Amino acid sequence: MVLEAGEAIGIGTSSRNCEVIHAGIYYPRGSLKAELCVRGRHMLYDFCQAHGVPHRQCGKLLVATARNQIPQLVAIQQKGTENRVEGLTRISGAQAKEMEPQLECVEAVWLPVNR
Ligand SMILES: Cc1cc2nc3c(=O)[nH]c(=O)nc-3n(C[C@H](O)[C@H](O)[C@H](O)COP(=O)(O)OP(=O)(O)OC[C@H]3O[C@@H](n4cnc5c(N)ncnc54)[C@H](O)[C@@H]3O)c2cc1C
Repeated sequence: MVLEAGEAIGIGTSSRNCEVIHAGIYYPRGSLKAELCVRGRHMLYDFCQAHGVPHRQCGKLLVATARNQIPQLVAIQQKGTENRVEGLTRISGAQAKEMEPQLECVEAVWLPVNR
């Protein structure tokens, strides 16, 4: 039996979120959020593939738009690596611009599409 407080099932927060499959970069090391997000992400991709759920693995660029933001960028990369998010790579502003021509930044961290 499903009890639903709303007018219909599936119209809660889940129907209005950003629809991003998070990588697990930001969560504190050793936290359940970090562990479950990284593991759950792989499981979700497998589920989507197995059940034909449309999804897109587009990767992610984290950018520093000024030099004084670079230490923060490096700290995020370190936290992500500690959380076992694979493949986080520091790239130059020019490299980021090659990927996204509209982007202006001094440095970036690229999270590739591979899993
Ligand atoms: C703005 C925003 C953006 C987000 N973006 C992302 C994202 O990009 N990627 C991501 O992974 N996560 C994202 N999240 C988080 C994610 O959306 C939630 O963690 C997820 O939707 C929670 O799902 P749920 O099934 O627990 O809750 P819900 O989807 O809210 O479902 C709960 C259901 O229970 C019902 N209910 C509540 N109380 C009762 C009751 N007493 N009796 C009967 N029914 C009840 C509600 O009406 C609702 O239908 C975002 C959240 C927000 C707010």
